[in-house]
Amino acid sequence: MFQSERSVLIVVDVQNGFTPGGNLAVAHADQIIPRINQLAQHFANVVITQDWHPQNHISFAENHVGKQPFETLELEYGTQVLWPAHCVQGTLDAELHPDLNIPTAQLIIRKGFHSTYCI
Ligand SMILES: [Zn+2]
Repeated sequence: MFQSERSVLIVVDVQNGFTPGGNLAVAHADQIIPRINQLAQHFANVVITQDWHPQNHISFAENHVGKQPFETLELEYGTQVLWPAHCVQGTLDAELHPDLNIPTAQLIIRKGFHSTYCI
C-alpha cells in the first residue's frame, strides 16, 4: 500500500507526556508507536504535531487558584478542562516519544504555545 503523492499522514502528539510515565499519560499509548512507524513508511507526506505549552498555560489546573486537574472552567471560547501541567516547552515530557521513528516526516507543528488560550 502506498498512498498518493497528495496524501498526508498526520501523527498527533506522540510525546512522552501522553505515554506511560508522562504527566498526562494515556494507558498503553506507547503500544501503538510501532504501528505508526510502519504506517508512515507508506506515506509520501508525514506531518507530526507536538503539544508545546508554556508553564503558565491556561489549561493547567495549577494556574488557577483552588482548581484541580480534570475540573472545568468557563473561558471566553467555551468550557475548558483543566489538565495537570504537561508537555511544557523544553522538558522531557514535551519531547517526541523515543520510539517514534519517522525520518521521512517533513514538518513538526508545535501547538498550544500561547499561554492565554488552549488551541
Ligand atoms: Zn496540552
